[in-house]
Amino acid sequence: MTDPTPLPVNSRLMSRCAEMLALPHKVCRRRDCRRRNACYWHFRKSGEPCCLRNLTGPQRAAFDALYAEVLAVVQRYQSAQLPDFAPPDPERRALRDAAIELVRSELPAEHRPRFEEWRRRRNTGHP
Ligand SMILES: [Zn+2]
Repeated sequence: MTDPTPLPVNSRLMSRCAEMLALPHKVCRRRDCRRRNACYWHFRKSGEPCCLRNLTGPQRAAFDALYAEVLAVVQRYQSAQLPDFAPPDPERRALRDAAIELVRSELPAEHRPRFEEWRRRRNTGHP
């Protein structure tokens, strides 16, 4: 069996995911990260926040699950595809909601109205 294709790296989004999971307080060995509550250091080559190296397997899996949702939200928004309505699994839905929040907070202000409209369509289910 081959490994799945690795997710594309976006340093900024990865850092935000790490913050949402409170990783800087839990795993960062860098004082800068803990003090700012944000992963400050990145590997120059891969662009990954350095502190991800300190995650245990299950922590990394949780990080990857959130990050994959964030990428899915970005991709669907950019391609003007409707988001999935209410994934049946509540855990999955919570993850999707967190990802949408995270993407919203990262968007430049001029995107906000369009994104809000996109999000409303998800919530109401109206196309
Ligand atoms: Zn860090």
